[in-house]
Amino acid sequence: MIKLWDTAKGFYKKEVGNGYNTSFWYDNWFTKGVLVEILGPRGVIDMGISNEATVAEAVLGVRRRKRHRTELLNAIESEMVAVKEKLWENVEDITPKYAFITWLAMLDRLTTMDRVARWNSGVDVTCALCKNAAESRSHLFFECSYSSQIWEHLMLGILRGSYTTNWNAIVALLKQSDRDKKRSFCLRYGFQTIIYVI
Ligand SMILES: [Zn+2]
Repeated sequence: MIKLWDTAKGFYKKEVGNGYNTSFWYDNWFTKGVLVEILGPRGVIDMGISNEATVAEAVLGVRRRKRHRTELLNAIESEMVAVKEKLWENVEDITPKYAFITWLAMLDRLTTMDRVARWNSGVDVTCALCKNAAESRSHLFFECSYSSQIWEHLMLGILRGSYTTNWNAIVALLKQSDRDKKRSFCLRYGFQTIIYVI
């Protein structure tokens, strides 16, 4: 019976997914098995990861990667790095609403006043936020004195020298393949967020 259970367990591999519902110690996310079974109670101390931690908490936490004396522990550390990268790639999928409106903005299909004026010439195109310029996509989200404060707050620290409020320059930055995954994630996410909240 126990043997059968072992075989069955092999088939049941928990999909890490977004990692927030997967237990670091009690679920079968690691290729060599359930961590509490292969490491025993000492594992919590050796790894420095709480007994209640989810996979997401363990890999995204502030804890530094450790160098261990055993190969098994080091193998766990390297799988954690792989999971972490996968999680960063997946976070965007959690917010499809942001993604949709960003897609509309990229195509310039949002009803900004400059576009409304194209079919309704009598309309006032002044920006509703600052009342100080014509409301275009580029102005509304990034150049407007109101939204540029938010954009600067979100992005200046991340973009540093390449910080800009120009729509085309921002889109060019988005298209750049960035080796720093966290940085390019923050940029994509900040871009989507500002378009969504304004
Ligand atoms: Zn404005």
